[in-house]
Amino acid sequence: MPKRLIAGNWKMNGLKSSLVEAKLVSDGLSDATDGPEVLICPPATLISSLRDTLADSAIKFGGQDCHVNASGAHTGDISAEMLADLGCVYGIVGHSERRADHGESSELVASKASALIRAGVVPIICIGETLEERKAGSTLAVLTTQLKGSVPDGLDGAGFVVAYEPVWAIGTGLIPELSDIEEAHGHLRKTLEEMGVANSNAARLLYGGSVKPSNAAEILSIANVNGALVGGASLKASDFLGIIRS
Ligand code: PEP
Repeated sequence: MPKRLIAGNWKMNGLKSSLVEAKLVSDGLSDATDGPEVLICPPATLISSLRDTLADSAIKFGGQDCHVNASGAHTGDISAEMLADLGCVYGIVGHSERRADHGESSELVASKASALIRAGVVPIICIGETLEERKAGSTLAVLTTQLKGSVPDGLDGAGFVVAYEPVWAIGTGLIPELSDIEEAHGHLRKTLEEMGVANSNAARLLYGGSVKPSNAAEILSIANVNGALVGGASLKASDFLGIIRS
């Protein structure tokens, strides 16, 4: 069973003053001898200061997106190599907000995941169905297509993470039935195997979408749920700690 990963995605939230929350999380875990791997992905503007804040901590930090190229004329973009240069261990790609706001296709997401691997950063590849797709009964078909399209060929399961995030559950307070999460994660595990991913059981499958301290324990106890990607609740130390302790 791969080590669980609890990853916080701060999205476009946080100023320097927000680092106090990361410090509180770090202090709250200082006595922890065992537990999940913990990650915070702040906006790019805060990565460097977060690194300093977490200097004595086991908490890791990562980026939220990257360009496919290592460098060049791409104003406003950040490369995977730049994330690695800052010490990022993970990078999120394919988040539904990027797919929706920036029209990112699964093909582009796979290229970004490859760029992260090229730079030595572990990709967290996000996929998930919309409410319309769920209502149409096509959730598993959508997940198959997105997974096959977004995970680059030739990866070892230990080298990447998949986050299943139903789009309609993100930031809404809604979550699928636990049996639906179990079905989706079982399907993802089986599909990775069918795709011929080496060591597919080592790939961590995170659930994301309105994870809170009150529902984390039941979600994290589901088969094939190897951690959580947490948005809103990762911004407040007490909530994020509550999820980590679950
Ligand atoms: C996310 O956007 O990755 C996410 C899981 O958000 P939230 O926890 O706020 O639903």
